[in-house]
Amino acid sequence: MRLCRRCQIKEASVVLLPCLHLCLCVRCKDDCERCPMCTSLKSASVEVFLSSRSDSAEGTKYFS
Ligand SMILES: [Zn+2]
Ligand SMILES: [Zn+2]
Repeated sequence: MRLCRRCQIKEASVVLLPCLHLCLCVRCKDDCERCPMCTSLKSASVEVFLSSRSDSAEGTKYFS
C-alpha cells in the first residue's frame, strides 16, 4: 500500500487539490498546508476510498 508521506505509518488516502497527489493520510491532511511531494499550496483535499472490498459476486450459485 501507499504510505502517507508525512507520517509514513498510515495509508495515504487523501488526494490534494489542485496537484492531485495521493500522498497523505486522513490524519495528516489537516496538518499540511502544502503537498509534501510537490510543495504546491493545498486548496482542498479529497478522501478517496481504495477499498479492496471483495465484491460478493458469488451471491448466486447454480447447481444442476
Ligand atoms: Zn499521515
Ligand atoms: Zn502535489
